[in-house]
Amino acid sequence: MRRYSAFAIAREAARFHSGWDRAWRSPTPRSAYDAIIVGAGGHGLATAYYLGKNHGLTNVAVIEKGWLGGGNTGRNTTIIRSNYLQDPSAAIYEKARSLYETLSQDLNYNIMFSPRGVMMLAQTQHEVRGYQRTAHANALQGVTTEFVGPKRVKELCPIINIDGPRYPVLGGLWQARAGTARHDAVAWGYARACSDMGMDIIQQCEVTGITREGGKVTGVETTKGAIGCKKLGVVVAGHSGVVANMAGFRLPIESVALQALVSEPIKPVMDIVVMANTVHGYMSQSDKGEMVIGGGADGYNNYTQRGSFQHVEETVRALIETFPMLSRLKMLRWWGGIVDMTGDRSPIISKTPVENMFINCGWGTGGFKAIPGSGWAMAELMATGGSPLAQEFSLGRFREGRFIDESVAAGVAH
Ligand SMILES: Cc1cc2nc3c(=O)[nH]c(=O)nc-3n(C[C@H](O)[C@H](O)[C@H](O)COP(=O)(O)OP(=O)(O)OC[C@H]3O[C@@H](n4cnc5c(N)ncnc54)[C@H](O)[C@@H]3O)c2cc1C
Repeated sequence: MRRYSAFAIAREAARFHSGWDRAWRSPTPRSAYDAIIVGAGGHGLATAYYLGKNHGLTNVAVIEKGWLGGGNTGRNTTIIRSNYLQDPSAAIYEKARSLYETLSQDLNYNIMFSPRGVMMLAQTQHEVRGYQRTAHANALQGVTTEFVGPKRVKELCPIINIDGPRYPVLGGLWQARAGTARHDAVAWGYARACSDMGMDIIQQCEVTGITREGGKVTGVETTKGAIGCKKLGVVVAGHSGVVANMAGFRLPIESVALQALVSEPIKPVMDIVVMANTVHGYMSQSDKGEMVIGGGADGYNNYTQRGSFQHVEETVRALIETFPMLSRLKMLRWWGGIVDMTGDRSPIISKTPVENMFINCGWGTGGFKAIPGSGWAMAELMATGGSPLAQEFSLGRFREGRFIDESVAAGVAH
């Protein structure tokens, strides 16, 4: 792989950009691999990348039914933060956040990580108490956050109306090194690095069955034929229940649509991310100037990757109360993704009842921020049989009642 650099740009400019390589190959599948990852979203690609980088396992295929990064990874609002309440969550999200800090250099691909800061508004006394508690927990976990008063909120984000009639801003949980990254670039950067290590990324290839022998996984059936493997990682977000069903087990997961929208582009008005969980909406401004707005999850299960009118109306109505200037903006487009929700709103990174088959899912409305940490942990689990970052997130916790309750941090937020 030719490295991207300022020198490479100058060289290519001088020869009319005729020398750029394809970012990744599009091979036909081989008959077998040491490991197969199903799902070329951020989590699947990161798993493959760390299998190669950390564990030297490169005879790997990533199989994707659509195009890489076309699932939730390419549909999310890109908020990255690690201010979770429970220790296992803070550990994996902070690992991910810290990997994001240097991911562009690591992948030699600009993922546009922007640690612009994330503010979670406290608009009820209940939220004030909750976020103060989270700030104390974060201090113990080594995650840098602080609870700030309304004056500081206004300084950091002047377009907020802190004296709203129903929900005045009483303070906020501020994480200064949280932020955003370019979602497609995260998928593309990992894909390019995986391809460079000799891994095969096979797009337009749906896994339709999982073959087993004596309780062990032996491969997958796909729309491009059967492919054998010694280890299988299933990382398919909103379709986790469907793929688990192919292997004969059920997951404690519900699949629902979550949606987002963007406004017409405007001049820079806001250089942080703001989440208003009581009124339920969150917003940041993209580099193009669009206000990127996230809404809620549908209250019913479905697999259609579409938004619904009622949520757009509700989200915009809710945000106008806190950001009155939004009422003059035209909305440009909106979309949906299918997210996989667990009862305790924490992910699953686990062995499964089928030997050598592993599952990574349940990131619900907030898994983009976790991609590097999740891939790191999943790769370690697949390569060595255990991972300190993943051990609390096993399927066994639902049987044993060891829930990692993040409904405040993740139930409505992202
Ligand atoms: C509107 C919206 C806003 C969000 N906002 C945020 C946010 O601000 N911050 C945050 O941290 N998270 C956010 N999220 C959540 C985040 O997007 C997801 O948790 C994360 O992207 C999941 O990544 P993934 O790689 O697991 O899944 P995906 O990116 O969905 O990848 C799974 C892939 O598996 C493929 N697949 C499925 N079935 C098969 C099959 N049978 N065979 C082959 N391939 C298959 C799919 O085509 C898909 O490409 C948001 C989600 C949505 C929808």
